[in-house]
Amino acid sequence: MSILAIAGGVPGRRDAFARWPIFDERERVALVEVLESRSWGGYNSKIKEFEEAFAAFHQARYAVSASNGTVTLEGALLAAGIGPGDEVIVPPITFIATATAALRAGATPVFADIGPDYNIDPKRVEEAISERSRAIVVVHFAGRPVDMDAIAELAAKHHLLVVEDAAHAHGASWRGRPVGTLGDIASFSFQQSKNMTAGEGGMLIGNRSDLIEGARSIFNQGRISGGAWYEHENLGTNQRLTAWQAALLLVQLQRLPEQMARRAENARYLDERLRELDFVEPLEPDPRVTGPSYYLYMVRLRLDRMPGVSRDLFLKALTAEGIPGIGSYPHPLYENQVFHKYGFRRTDCPQAVRMCRESFWVSHEVLLSKRSGLDDFVSALKKVYENLPELCETSVVSR
Ligand SMILES: *Cc1c(COP(=O)(O)O)cnc(C)c1O
Repeated sequence: MSILAIAGGVPGRRDAFARWPIFDERERVALVEVLESRSWGGYNSKIKEFEEAFAAFHQARYAVSASNGTVTLEGALLAAGIGPGDEVIVPPITFIATATAALRAGATPVFADIGPDYNIDPKRVEEAISERSRAIVVVHFAGRPVDMDAIAELAAKHHLLVVEDAAHAHGASWRGRPVGTLGDIASFSFQQSKNMTAGEGGMLIGNRSDLIEGARSIFNQGRISGGAWYEHENLGTNQRLTAWQAALLLVQLQRLPEQMARRAENARYLDERLRELDFVEPLEPDPRVTGPSYYLYMVRLRLDRMPGVSRDLFLKALTAEGIPGIGSYPHPLYENQVFHKYGFRRTDCPQAVRMCRESFWVSHEVLLSKRSGLDDFVSALKKVYENLPELCETSVVSR
């Protein structure tokens, strides 16, 4: 048996994986064009051009860009008039911004558990509804769309606003319809790690002009579209996207379909290969997910087959084997102090707790690598599993 890299052996993989973000001459040309235009801020025509292109790509009518995908979530709730006294239902497995948006709007986040697919479970959402509930923020986690049929039904029955946090899901689709118009308004992020990026950036899209225009006003100092520079109708701030970001993102959007196809194809291959491993629990496919976009590729370890081994110890060994982009959450979101300071409510979340004990991800750039990279990932998983006794010893020594 080969010795684990964590115990001083040779790493299973030494070649680099695909580096993210990907760019070439087209991005360079686009940036120089902005430079020479001398219009570098949020009023360059490239911004409107990008908003329209991004909305069209998701078959949405309206769009407004912003400086990141955190303020877009806040803007969506504020534009819908959500504030103190209101409750916003959110999943406990997501990035912090999904839930702090409710707090920043003055409302209370209410955590409802996820299902085995890591997405908020509509049944748990229903249990979390109270007479103060005003909105549900769903996250298409890892790029796999939430069951939006069930969410839409609940929302209609209880008169709730539906916000899609699509920060993981650029271009994903549910029953053939792109994310972005499956709820009332959808939020995207173009932060460094996302499937389309300008380092930072965000966007709201949807078919409700009242919400999009409300958010646009907030992001632009309370001005209204067509209004004068020094006329401010609403309480706003400055969260405008810059021309640099829009220029990069216009090119990144052109790259997206080809990259999505590669990620999906490689994810299918990984699905197949991981089915060979009896210590990994496969994710059930859902035929209604017609276009997952794979921001993350999720892996659930069968720890019942690995006595004495935690996910984190397994990941430490896997990382040492040269597998990049590995991540996991330490605990459900509601464990963060911020919620204990500012208020929250939650129902039981055993699936979220389980996820934090058993699951991890590799990020999408691994899915942009060559087949050999994926094979090396599978080999590294096997190598760690086959050397668990050694791994346990190593961890005892290092403690
Ligand atoms: C990245 C992300 C955001 C927004 O992040 P920003 O870095 O502010 O753009 C929001 N929600 C989720 C689920 C995310 O992953």
